[in-house]
Amino acid sequence: VKLVPVYEFKFPEPGPEHFSITCKNHTFLRWITKNPYQRNIHYLGLADGTKENGFWMWQECACPFGDLVVITETEGVVT
Ligand SMILES: [Zn+2]
Repeated sequence: VKLVPVYEFKFPEPGPEHFSITCKNHTFLRWITKNPYQRNIHYLGLADGTKENGFWMWQECACPFGDLVVITETEGVVT
C-alpha cells in the first residue's frame, strides 16, 4: 500500500473505480471518491468502517485539501 499526496495522484475520468483517501494528519479517517475534481468526495468516517454516529470527534477534519493522500496499491498513475 502506498500513500500518494492527492495533488500528485493522477485521477482518471470518473468511472466505476473508487479511490480511498485519508488525511495525512488523521489517518484513521477515510473518504472515497472517483475523481475529486469532477465529483464529490464522500466522507466514510473511521478507517475501521465505523460510520459516523454523532460523536463530534468523528467529524471530518478541517485540514486543507492538499493534506489528503490517496491510498493505492501501486504508483499513482492511472491511464
Ligand atoms: Zn486531517
